[in-house]
Amino acid sequence: MLGSCLRSRISFRNPVGGIVIYYSKKNVEPIPEEQTAIWTCSSDSCSCWMRDDFSFQTEPVCPICNSVMSEDSRLLPVLKP
Ligand SMILES: [Zn+2]
Repeated sequence: MLGSCLRSRISFRNPVGGIVIYYSKKNVEPIPEEQTAIWTCSSDSCSCWMRDDFSFQTEPVCPICNSVMSEDSRLLPVLKP
């Protein structure tokens, strides 16, 4: 079973602001998307964002540049429980 725990749950921002999802080769399956609340960095020179689900503050600051973050939404893969 070595490696199976890596399936599909790891994502990160790529340089153009999209996300990259990794699948194990034996478990490729489509992931449904939904409009998801997120926080985006208010700095023009920073494209950091995070899912609202993962924020633990009502108004988080950017972990990259410490600017305030503003609420937004975008289509993201649905997280399985
Ligand atoms: Zn930032």
